Amino acid sequence: MPQRPYVIDVMISAKTIAARIEELCDEITQEFGDTDKLVVVGLLRGSFVFIADLVRELDLPIEVDFLEASSYGDGMESSREVRILKDLRGAIEGRDVLVVEDIVDTGHTLNHVTHLLASRKPARLKSIALLDKPSRREVDFRSDWIGFEIPDEFVVGYGIDFAQRNRNLPYIGKVRFTDES
Ligand code: 5GP
Ligand code: MG
Ligand code: MG
Repeated sequence: MPQRPYVIDVMISAKTIAARIEELCDEITQEFGDTDKLVVVGLLRGSFVFIADLVRELDLPIEVDFLEASSYGDGMESSREVRILKDLRGAIEGRDVLVVEDIVDTGHTLNHVTHLLASRKPARLKSIALLDKPSRREVDFRSDWIGFEIPDEFVVGYGIDFAQRNRNLPYIGKVRFTDES
């Protein structure tokens, strides 16, 4: 797909994200305060910046693992079929697990992944997503923690890509095409 020209407008600043992560980590630490080992599972690739900031604010004994599920491909349209491209390295049976996602959009990805992980019988299974677009939901899924509710806009940055670009922006930005008349 040839790239159309676009600019990125700041939607959520790095400072606002950092402040929200502190709040979320207070709540997560309360929820899992009694754990002897929390397995924090990042969904690749979009959550890699979020999980890095999150775990450094968590005052808990943790392990980190990753799982990669495909949904969007390289375009801007969600596919309803979720495939596991890379599974966890570790077993989670009897463990406390926190799944970390970048965005809940239609809900298919986290719905599929949490059902899959629940089938492995963790002691506790919770999820957190940095962003939530409730107006786009197609399946009834609610994440236990949400960073920010956002409108139906295509966003990039802070780990989130547009055709694999812009993941390294320190803020969440909104894509605006400049060839629209
Ligand atoms: P769902 O399965 O909930 O529809 O989709 C979740 C996934 O879609 C997210 O993990 C993310 O990879 C992708 N996604 C949803 N909205 C956006 C967006 O605005 N920008 C980008 N780059 N990806 C998105
Ligand atoms: Mg994703
Ligand atoms: Mg993507």
